[in-house]
Parts: sequence; C-alpha cells; structure tokens
Amino acid sequence: MSGQRYLDLLKENNINNLRQFAEQKHAPRDSVGYGVILSKKDIRTSNNPQKDHMLTCYISDPSLESGTCCINIFSKSLETLEAFKENRIVQMKNFFVKEFNNNPQITLNSYSRYALFTAKETKQIELANISHPAVPNDKAIIKALDSWNAEASGSEAMMQVPTKRRLLETSQLYDDPSKYFDFVGQIVDIKNFDAFTLLVLTDFTENPYPPTLTVDQKVLDPKYLINCAVWDYHRSVCADLDIKDFVFLRNCVKKLTDTLEFNIHGSNNQSKPQVVHISPDDDLLKNVLARRKLIKASSKKRTRDQLEAYSLRTEFITKKRGGLKSLKYIKSRRDNGVCEVKASICKYSPQDVRDWIQGYCFKCNVRTPVDSFCPKCDNPTSISYDVKLTLKDEENEELEVYCKDRPLRQVPAHEAHRSEAQFDKLKRIAHLATDTANVFFDFCVGTVDGYSCIVNTRFILDENDSA
Ligand SMILES: [Zn+2]
Repeated sequence: MSGQRYLDLLKENNINNLRQFAEQKHAPRDSVGYGVILSKKDIRTSNNPQKDHMLTCYISDPSLESGTCCINIFSKSLETLEAFKENRIVQMKNFFVKEFNNNPQITLNSYSRYALFTAKETKQIELANISHPAVPNDKAIIKALDSWNAEASGSEAMMQVPTKRRLLETSQLYDDPSKYFDFVGQIVDIKNFDAFTLLVLTDFTENPYPPTLTVDQKVLDPKYLINCAVWDYHRSVCADLDIKDFVFLRNCVKKLTDTLEFNIHGSNNQSKPQVVHISPDDDLLKNVLARRKLIKASSKKRTRDQLEAYSLRTEFITKKRGGLKSLKYIKSRRDNGVCEVKASICKYSPQDVRDWIQGYCFKCNVRTPVDSFCPKCDNPTSISYDVKLTLKDEENEELEVYCKDRPLRQVPAHEAHRSEAQFDKLKRIAHLATDTANVFFDFCVGTVDGYSCIVNTRFILDENDSA
C-alpha cells in the first residue's frame, strides 16, 4: 500500500523509480533518483596517491519488489561514506547506471550530487561538500519511501506499529508480495564464493523457477531446491554449518532472475543473528519434516514404478548374488566377497564416453591406446571397456566401482569402437544410467582388497527406446 503510494508520487513528479533506471541502463543528466539503504559493506581505500575511498551499499524501493540495487560510492571523504547507513534514504543526481550480473548497479562519483536523509525525522544529514539537489515535493517522496521501508522491514523506526515478517515457504515466495520474510529449511549443499556463501536449501515445497544442478548434485529433485546467497558478516555462521543441517533464516530478501532465490545481507538490527542453526526437534520444523516424510515415501514408490517403464535396467547373470547390502557395509568390510546393492549412478569417469573404450592385453594385463600393440609382448591389444562409476544408495552413501566388459556386453567395446550406431547405443546407456539419479539399479559388487567391481550383472537397454 505504502509502496504504491510512493510509486504514484514519483510518477506525478516525473521521477524514475529504480526499476526504470535499471531497464533504461541509463540515467539522463540531471535526473533524480531515490533509494533506501538496506545494507552496506566495509569501506575500502585505494592504493593510489589520492587515497580515494569506495563503499558498496544495497538500496531498494518498491519498484524492485524484493530485489536490491547495488550502489558504489567513490569519495575522498571518509565522513561522507560513513554517513551511508542502513535505513537512510539516498537522493541522487548525475549518477551512472549499468547492469552487472543481471542487476542494476549505480555509481556515484565526484560529479554526482547526493544527499542522505534519516529514517525517523526525514531530516537531511549535514555533510561537507555535498550539495542537495533541489526537487519539488522531495519531503513527501522521502517520507513515502521511508514509510514503505519501515512497514516492510519492521525496523526500529516503526517499532510502535506492530508488523511481523512472515515465515514463507519456497512455494509461496513467487506470489507473495512480502519484501522481507523468514525461512526455515534443510541444507542440501554449501558453496563458498569470494563475496558470499551459497546455501542450497529445501523446505520440501516446490520452487516454480528452480536452480539447475549438475547430475552429481541430484540428491533431491531440483524443483524442491532454492538458493540463498549469504553476504557480509552472516557468512561466519555458515562456516559452522553442514549439509543436512536445519536452519532458520531471518530477514531474507527475495530475488528473481531466471531462477527464484533469495539473499541475506547485513542488517540494521545486528543484535539478532539472521542465520540460525536449529535442532531437528525444533517446533519450527514440524511442517518441513512432515513434507520430507511424504516426499521420501513417494520418491521410493516412484523409483519402483519407474524401473518398470525405464528403458535401461540391469539383470543378474548368475544366482550368486551374496545378499542385499548397503554401500556403507561394502566400504567397511575388510574381507573380499560379492554382495548385491540397490543404487543409482551419480557420476562416471572418464567424462567422455569415447574414452571408455581402451586397448588391453589380457595376457600381460596392460592398458594401451585403442588399435595399438602391447609394449610387453608386442601382440595387438584387444578393445575393452574401463569405466569408473560412482554409486549412491538410499542412505546417500557413495562408492566407486569399476565397470569392465561384462556389464556392458549388450554393446561390446569393439563394436562400439567400429560402428557409430553401436557407439550411439553406448552413449544412450551412459545417459540413461545417470540421467535420473532417482532411478535405482540392482548391481552385484565384487570387492577384492578394497577395489570394487560390478560383477554378475549386465545393463539391458530396451531396444525400442529410440529417444
Ligand atoms: Zn601383452
């Protein structure tokens, strides 16, 4: 409501909002812009003799919905940069706009004119060397932007007005107009980048614009995932977090590029941590855990159904199967032997299926390039497979196993080498074997001295499968 009032006010005064500047990727000379500072980074000082200082802030307004706009301010005055504080409003003129990583980025330099206003009293901050661009109705505009910010963030300026951030699920984020929200979920992956830590999360509801992941990351259907970039000092908490941990995330900011994700930036309210590790019996997790249970049950069922319709399956060659065991068991066993496992293939190596085909001298036990001679006995070598698969079972335990000729004998190595049609079939098997990490295959795994191999099992590709 207050957001719309602000946007209307800008329109009446012929002033662009932040989205309009971003879309034009250009700020005409003498145009005026406004934004409220949501967070800022540390001031940096250049090594040049002029000792210029630079500050990066994130500003927003109702046009960006839940997004932010990065703003870089260059100044010789530290005092000026220190005045850029959270919840203050910046009014600027003669600034530059460009696009950076799909987001608008504004630069203020010595040619720019700008002023800052406090949140509470809409009073201009006195700064040396800064001239305030004269704008009619600017008091009203600043007031409206401040009301929107206070309403959205529940900031201290508006403590007397009871506002509560909503706890939102992934599936609600896209349609919900909230600028800030809280989130509770489980960590699927953690990645560290220079400027931020990326948490891949799930609350077991569906993301309409999910992130894309590589095959080996598919522990869960990507539609249940959402990314959260954690910035600034909140990253320190992430260092103690692990995959499968549960977290409560406070004061998140939604972001929509080609995927739906959210951010956690520094905030004015530093007394409350925004990234909180919670225990699995926390009341906040009741719904999350209930959904997880349902999804796990249905994914097990789907795995069985899929196997019947899936065009790649495995078959045991002998009755000697050694009983169904977990990959954990195989990894911990000290003796040699064969056992049966149910597992998906999450990775294979070499990455290029062409390199699965190699030369091999069965007499001397030597690998060579294809179509060459054995360096020991000088006989031509046979064409043979050498592939390493990474299996993953329902407990998410992984095991590397070797796959030689016998499991792939539906397409013998020499045929795959000579015939493109046969090679295409091999590629189809490789693709189907890893395409859906949720498809579990039956394998016999033979282990000798800690080295595991697929034995007594073969892949069967449905010949009607022409996709
Ligand atoms: Zn040889």
